[in-house]
Amino acid sequence: MTEKTVRLMGEVLAERQRQDDKWGRQDHDLTVWLTVLAEEVGEVAQAILAERRGVQGGEARAALRASRAGLRAELIQVAAVATPTAEWLDEHTCQECGCTDEAGCEAGCWWTEPGLCSQCDPRL
Ligand SMILES: [Zn+2]
Ligand SMILES: [Zn+2]
Repeated sequence: MTEKTVRLMGEVLAERQRQDDKWGRQDHDLTVWLTVLAEEVGEVAQAILAERRGVQGGEARAALRASRAGLRAELIQVAAVATPTAEWLDEHTCQECGCTDEAGCEAGCWWTEPGLCSQCDPRL
């Protein structure tokens, strides 16, 4: 990891904040999170192809720079969408026993707080 990596992570955080400000806190299930992530990855693919077409078409240097900047921004967005997906996973997995929404404790359980099920909550 370099200083550039740290700077990039700052950009990812800023993008994540921008998304939170725009959409509010999102509580999708995993299927929707994957769909949102796939949409962002698709935009990366689109940007790569657009750049390639620009190079092949002899596009001006300034246009190529702009399309590369767009590609970079899309990559930052992929990372920024991946982070709330991982957060969602943490909140929907008991950090004590590992049970999930789909595979709860045998005796039955519910979330007493994000990442903690009723079987593992010492307050119950
Ligand atoms: Zn548990
Ligand atoms: Zn449980």
